Amino acid sequence: MRVEDLIVYGKKYISSSHAKLLLADLLKKNPLELLLILDLEVEPNLVQEYQRKVLALKNNYPIQYVIGHVNFYGYEFLVNQDVLIPRFETEELVEKVLQYEQNCGKNNLSVLDLGCGSGCIGITLKKKLPNLLVTLVDKSEKALIVAKENAKRLEADVTFYQSDWFSNLPIEQYDIIVSNPPYIKDGEEIEKIVRGNEPSLALYGGKEGIDCYRQILETSYPYQKDSTLFAFEIGSDQKDLLTSLVEKTYPDRRVVVEKDMQGRNRMLFVLPKNE
Ligand code: GLN
Repeated sequence: MRVEDLIVYGKKYISSSHAKLLLADLLKKNPLELLLILDLEVEPNLVQEYQRKVLALKNNYPIQYVIGHVNFYGYEFLVNQDVLIPRFETEELVEKVLQYEQNCGKNNLSVLDLGCGSGCIGITLKKKLPNLLVTLVDKSEKALIVAKENAKRLEADVTFYQSDWFSNLPIEQYDIIVSNPPYIKDGEEIEKIVRGNEPSLALYGGKEGIDCYRQILETSYPYQKDSTLFAFEIGSDQKDLLTSLVEKTYPDRRVVVEKDMQGRNRMLFVLPKNE
């Protein structure tokens, strides 16, 4: 079949943009380039793969898992059902941490990425600022396989531990502790495509969605110093609950909540009082 025929075929089942994205990915082109090769005959094995993937998309399987990778902060991260699909908001968290590092005037900061999933936060930080010493942690062995593969492909020299938050982590005091933990409330209505496909371990955070922040904060004392920055992604309605949680666990620190580009409270930072 020709490229044009395959686009027509795909459009019967899925959106035109997904059909083009899928085909372009299989042919290692960008979607606009397809227009230049509409008459190209596609090899039968690729046709089969395309048809199989069209069906997966039609069945509401996320495009990122179908294609198997996603762009995060300009880097290509492999993803599969063992890891959360990295989100745009998380790029904003990375951006803030990079800004913090650049303004703090110190070098060789140590960074801990808790619940690393695909590794998108820790690996991106290491790529952008190679002098950081980055450690990535996840409880899921399967997620760590993906994260390690991403570090290898992106040539990021980082350290991994399999650990449920700090429980299996050698004691060391980190300058920056960053996390995008699971924060959806148990039972909260979320999109079916997310609920049905992404790992629940990466999504749900207890009755109010803040269990993981509580566990992290309450067990973090041996791993931090007075100057440590905690940088969390949070649910847009969790600002008050989390601020009081931090006030209880770290009464002598300052909480700063920042909005994302859509104006929602999506990032929470714990800083020393004097900064
Ligand atoms: N740190 C990863 C991300 O931001 C995974 C987060 C998670 O699984 N909750 O995408």
